[in-house]
Amino acid sequence: MMDRRIELVGRAAQAREELARAARRAGREPGDVTLVAVSKFHPAGDVRVLAEAGQVDFGENYVQEALAKREALTDLPLRWHFIGGLQSNKARFVAGNFALVHSVDSRKLAQALHRKASELGVVQDILLQVNIAGEEQKSGVDEAGLPELAEAVEAMPGLRLKGLMTMPPFFDDPERARPVFARLRHLRGRLEGRLGRSLPHLSMGMTGDFVAAVEEGATMVRIGTRIFGAREPRQ
Ligand SMILES: *Cc1c(COP(=O)(O)O)cnc(C)c1O
Repeated sequence: MMDRRIELVGRAAQAREELARAARRAGREPGDVTLVAVSKFHPAGDVRVLAEAGQVDFGENYVQEALAKREALTDLPLRWHFIGGLQSNKARFVAGNFALVHSVDSRKLAQALHRKASELGVVQDILLQVNIAGEEQKSGVDEAGLPELAEAVEAMPGLRLKGLMTMPPFFDDPERARPVFARLRHLRGRLEGRLGRSLPHLSMGMTGDFVAAVEEGATMVRIGTRIFGAREPRQ
């Protein structure tokens, strides 16, 4: 237990330091980039250890797992992020339970979240996930569909659009992900022009490529393995 505590806190501190260095190299303030610790497949006890060491933002991919962890940790002042693929029939479990939903990629899902948020009398902050490389199996709206989806979301008072998220293909060399990150920033700029307001967030960068993502303007990085270690495959 003690060893796990030392390991987790040490790894998180190192990740934070790397993040800060990347931000400064890019002429940015380290405080402008939020580190979302991705705790999927890792126990609530690990989240508690990190929370006690000052980590506030945690990301989860699976609804039931996320809600169980959240329930076990209600005594802590955490911000939960939903970052995984989400089917619209599960949206009712997500709206109102997460500070930010990063993975909205269809009008149907947006509508389901909006409906539930309205029912609860809350406004759900969301990002639109963009599939930049056009990979078949990846979730995300494609570039061509982004403006229309964003305008549909703007018309839903239960949702507040805060920016864009992307997940590049896995590359051994993070430099290959860099153009994807630059593209997301470009798309945000175009969307801001179209909507006539600013979109504060770019959620991009994971364990293998967060340095490049920060250099390209990420305001949120989603880091799992670098902090928690390898994930056991799901049963
Ligand atoms: C699992 C996951 C992460 C974290 O990935 P690591 O490579 O372990 O840092 C980030 N974003 C999304 C959408 C994920 O599913």
